[in-house]
Amino acid sequence: MSTYDEDKELRQRAENKLAKTTDNYLSKLIDQKRLVHELQVHQIELEIVNEALLDARGQAEMALERFSELFNFAPIAYFILDPDSNIIQTNFRGEFLLGKPRFELIGKKFILSVEIEQRPEFGQFLSHVFVHNGVQSCELKLLINKNLIWVTLQASVDISRKTCLIAVLDITERKKAEETIFIQAHIDLLTGLPNRRLFMDRLQQAIINAHRQNQKLALMFFDLDHFKYINDTLGHDTGDNLLKEATKRLQTCIREADTLARPGGDEFTLIMSDLHNSNGIERVAQSILEVMSQPFLLQNEQCYISISIGIAMYPDDADTPNDLLNKADQAMYAAKKQGRNQFCYFTPAMQAIAENRLRLANDLRTAIAEHQFSLVYQPIVDLATGKIEKAEALIRWKHPTRGLMNPNDFIPVAEDCGAIKAIGQWVFLQVANQVAIWRENLNPNFQISVNKSPVQFHSTDNNQDWVEYIKKINLEGNAITVEITEGLLLNASPAITEKLASIRATGMQISIDDFGTGYSSLSYLKKYQIDYLKIDRSFVSNLAQDSTDMALCEAMILMAHKLGIKVIAEGIETSEQCQLLLNAGCDFGQGFFFSKPLSSISFEQLFKP
Ligand code: C2E
Ligand code: MG
Ligand code: MG
Repeated sequence: MSTYDEDKELRQRAENKLAKTTDNYLSKLIDQKRLVHELQVHQIELEIVNEALLDARGQAEMALERFSELFNFAPIAYFILDPDSNIIQTNFRGEFLLGKPRFELIGKKFILSVEIEQRPEFGQFLSHVFVHNGVQSCELKLLINKNLIWVTLQASVDISRKTCLIAVLDITERKKAEETIFIQAHIDLLTGLPNRRLFMDRLQQAIINAHRQNQKLALMFFDLDHFKYINDTLGHDTGDNLLKEATKRLQTCIREADTLARPGGDEFTLIMSDLHNSNGIERVAQSILEVMSQPFLLQNEQCYISISIGIAMYPDDADTPNDLLNKADQAMYAAKKQGRNQFCYFTPAMQAIAENRLRLANDLRTAIAEHQFSLVYQPIVDLATGKIEKAEALIRWKHPTRGLMNPNDFIPVAEDCGAIKAIGQWVFLQVANQVAIWRENLNPNFQISVNKSPVQFHSTDNNQDWVEYIKKINLEGNAITVEITEGLLLNASPAITEKLASIRATGMQISIDDFGTGYSSLSYLKKYQIDYLKIDRSFVSNLAQDSTDMALCEAMILMAHKLGIKVIAEGIETSEQCQLLLNAGCDFGQGFFFSKPLSSISFEQLFKP
């Protein structure tokens, strides 16, 4: 090969190499340019991401700040606690609630603010929160600076279960309102004792416990004797004071475990559980009778009042609250009947009496409509002339199954059940019609007396219909005498005084029935306008010359006459009694010696020659 060729080849090779290198270089250059471009793109992208990140962080920081502000200023107290109740964080409301600044609270145990008796409950609550990882709530009392604060707690544990957040809401006001409502519904505001509702709950509970423990239980039922008189004469405020004082005295006699209650009025009840023998019951009853017999200072005056007590036993007498109460009430009623100021155990015989009363009360409702009542008239004789001047109207009941009944067997029932009002009205109308006839036929000055029960005076009735009826039939008022008992006048209220005055205003007269058997205070005789005293049969039945009864009759007649009151002696059965009374100056007489009570037809026969 020539040199030329060699040179050519060499050059060719060099050219090729150069071309290749150039190519390489160029492609590298292109690559580098692409790389630079890509880098630029990445950088832009990075900048965008960076900006976004910065934005998110700012927002997160702001949110955190806002949350911590919310936490701090929330109207509810928050505490972050660890499982040992150490306070890790709290807010302003939390500081306020526990009464200390945050730096003093952090690190302290929350449980120490909980009322001591409720600490175990709070401990259980907290461990429940951490174990069950749920939202738990409870109500507790906190004791802060000696003040009890009712709170409701809501707790939720965090994901790590290392701390929990507790929201604490002060519900003291609500609790106080609830307490007030409870007190108003269950406590007698005058004495602070449980009222009927709470008492019945307690009795129910006591019966359940006694049943479970196979024990006996006693229920005492108290009723103050003649409380109504105190209330009516000295006013309701004094009556209230008496009830408060009586409560204090009762409380001194009872055991700590017993429940004393005031179901209403002048009635109190006592539940005695955990009884080992009846000695305990009687000791309590006896001491109650004793403390109540001490004088009460009312309006600077010493007043005496006693108490009647009925006792019923669970399970011997009854096994339900109502039944037990009912039986203690029956026993109390028996104690009253036996003369008050004593205690009485329930007996099955009382139940029979109570059932009998209930049946009678039921039968009384239809007795007027079914014309089962009638009146008999007992003559009242002028002792000096021997002439019949007056009569007392006495009611009889022809009961469909029991036969003819005397008033003593049904009037008290009628008084209790309220039927006495209708009965009294019926009697009055009969008497007014009858006396009008007898004034016309027998004697123009004839007078009939009607018995008016104290219960009729205590009702709202103001004699208006009596007055109108007398006018309607053109009867003079003095044709009728109203017989009342001493009990009505002793401590009579202004309303009763007014009713008596209205009776007299129509011309009707007033007689004190069964005089001498009631109360010894005679001051009422000058206070009210009384026309007649009826000396009770008990003074007349054993009347003999120089006897005590004779002295008493003489004294009563003398006193009445001095006061311008005429005297009627009741229950004269012999001529000797009649003579002694006449000698003593007694004006009128009534009794079997002259005549038994008679039907109106038989009564008219007495006047026939
Ligand atoms: P009272 O007003 O004291 O009536 C007198 C009672 O004594 C009558 O009994 C009469 O029958 C009875 N009696 C009369 N003379 C003698 C006698 O010589 N010896 C005996 N052992 N008894 C005599 P009665 O009719 O059973 O009445 C009892 C009570 O019932 C009355 O006592 C009166 O308080 C009441 N009562 C009678 N009728 C009525 C009435 O219509 N309304 C009211 N609220 N009470 C009445
Ligand atoms: Mg009478
Ligand atoms: Mg009488």
